[in-house]
Amino acid sequence: METVTDPAIRAILAQRLLDHYAQHGRDLPWRRTREPYPVWLSEILLQQTGVKSVLPYYERFLDRFPTIQALAAAPLETVLTCWQGLGYYRRAVHLHAAAQQVVQHHQGRLPDEMASLLKLPGIGPSTAGAILAIAFNQHHAILDGNVKRVLSRLLALDHPPDSTPGKKILWETARLLTPLGHAGTHAQAIMDLGATLCRPRSPDCPHCPWNAWCAAHAKGQPAAYPATMSREVSKPHQYQFNALVVRQDRSLLLVPRPAQGLLGGLWCPPGDDPGPTATPPQAWQVQQWLADRYGLQVHLPQPLETVDHIFTHFRLTVFPFFCPWQAGDPPSDSGHRWVVPGTDQMPPISTLHRKVLRRFFKD
Ligand code: SF4
Repeated sequence: METVTDPAIRAILAQRLLDHYAQHGRDLPWRRTREPYPVWLSEILLQQTGVKSVLPYYERFLDRFPTIQALAAAPLETVLTCWQGLGYYRRAVHLHAAAQQVVQHHQGRLPDEMASLLKLPGIGPSTAGAILAIAFNQHHAILDGNVKRVLSRLLALDHPPDSTPGKKILWETARLLTPLGHAGTHAQAIMDLGATLCRPRSPDCPHCPWNAWCAAHAKGQPAAYPATMSREVSKPHQYQFNALVVRQDRSLLLVPRPAQGLLGGLWCPPGDDPGPTATPPQAWQVQQWLADRYGLQVHLPQPLETVDHIFTHFRLTVFPFFCPWQAGDPPSDSGHRWVVPGTDQMPPISTLHRKVLRRFFKD
């Protein structure tokens, strides 16, 4: 901690980082503006997602929804279609809901103070700090995934960044290191450092402006930090089946997911809820389930290759079944649709369910 408690060292760290950023910072489209809406949008898109994946979505999103008002007025389904393929769909649902609240309660302008920003769905302290620092030139720190990694290494922090003591120390450090009058540029610079040099697996310490003060580098083990909570190992494993009911014209049955649950607002093939049973159901059980639940008759379902997917809080294995449709139509209150995959009839579906559909629709 001495690194950050000594004001003289803090001043050097801040200046070196700003100088490094001035020379090597990446030219990204959201850095060419200080308008609150694009800054907010970029911060949400970049949560848990790399710059390369975000770039086309950022352009497309602003093209399609150039203002907060346009985003608020759009149906959620259109927003999710635009988001399709980026993952973590809850972000899009929150972004849309927040835009509606901004229009309703803030005359369509993103609020410029912390308490109001934190009331908006999907905006936590780090995102709010970034918006206020970058778009409104206020003095706030940020602590996103990249910054957690950089600071954990700078301190050689033994606590995992998301543990209670880890969070406390990292927030304190982030605040101490944010230089007065330069919070916005510092925020961009430290995120850039994490993305370009202080990478998760192979940090490029020789080129890092902080290497002379970095405790993890001094120990010769930068990649050993941040400390982990072994979350991958402890994630519960769940299982479910999906029925790909396909008619002769290749149309596929999709149903909407409950708005509030996992992948809410997206569409998927019918299936049971995730549960702990690792044994796939028998074909006749899937056949019976479709008859009971949707009034559908299908020829004997054929098992397809399983699909594994990792969510933030659990691992999921899906047992897909190809179910050739024979007769029947689900009740209208199921909100179902028959769509031909690969055409513009397709409503938004998650990355997981795209993988599932590819088990049958190879194209
Ligand atoms: S010296 Fe290495 S580990 Fe330390 S902050 Fe820089 S890149 Fe990261």
